[in-house]
Amino acid sequence: MKTDNSAGRSTDWKTLVLDVVRRLPRTFSLNDVTAHEDFFRRHYPRNNFIAAKIRQSLQILRDQGTLLFLGNAHYQRIDGDPKFSPLVNFDIGKDYVSASQLARVAVETWAELNLYCVNCSVRELTRLPDNTRVRDFVCTSCQTGYQLKSLQGRFGGKLTGAAYGPTIEAVREGLMPEHILVEYDRRFSTVVWVHAYPGQLITEERVIPRKRLSETARRKGWQGCTIDLSDVPKVALAAPTHQDEEIVRENWRAVQSKARRSAR
Ligand SMILES: [Zn+2]
Repeated sequence: MKTDNSAGRSTDWKTLVLDVVRRLPRTFSLNDVTAHEDFFRRHYPRNNFIAAKIRQSLQILRDQGTLLFLGNAHYQRIDGDPKFSPLVNFDIGKDYVSASQLARVAVETWAELNLYCVNCSVRELTRLPDNTRVRDFVCTSCQTGYQLKSLQGRFGGKLTGAAYGPTIEAVREGLMPEHILVEYDRRFSTVVWVHAYPGQLITEERVIPRKRLSETARRKGWQGCTIDLSDVPKVALAAPTHQDEEIVRENWRAVQSKARRSAR
């Protein structure tokens, strides 16, 4: 879905790159896509990594089976729906200053290309601006909000959350987004497990304040939180075996109705 950037919303990279690719001949080069830099810049005027984002999106579209890589920076379009891919492209190079920033951007791009709404039949989630309160993605159809968390390796039950104040406020106002946890393996550039947790099951006692940052810290006085997700019912969106979208949504509805019963 296209959105008006002047309203502060932007279309995700997958849609933008596909938009351009669909207007090109079936066989095209990387330069044919980057030649449309002005088009991308209109959507992301403050993004300094447009060329890297284009390359990364093309590679993931290739991993998804939407494009065929012909070699020598040439691609061929395969018409049809993109397929789910567990592959994460961590090879986005020197544009990112730290390894953790690089990993976060790589997983977010994977999420833009592969995640879908568990509450309705929409097959993509739309990235929200970086400073959006306690949510990273939204379904533009049913308005469900999603918070994405990712980590290398396995998750022990406790998650590092965002700022404590806004998080506890969101819980009290009943506005906690669904939480999606991505466990990935850098060695194989792949997601291993991806689980969705219902936001309504993240209650006040599960949000644990952390110590305020010291006076000498860059963000002095800032207070984060830990979210305890141990024993919260969850649904696997990706696992070492393929998960069918419709079965995932069915499992999600079962978890949701269990959550509603326990809330009564
Ligand atoms: Zn939805």
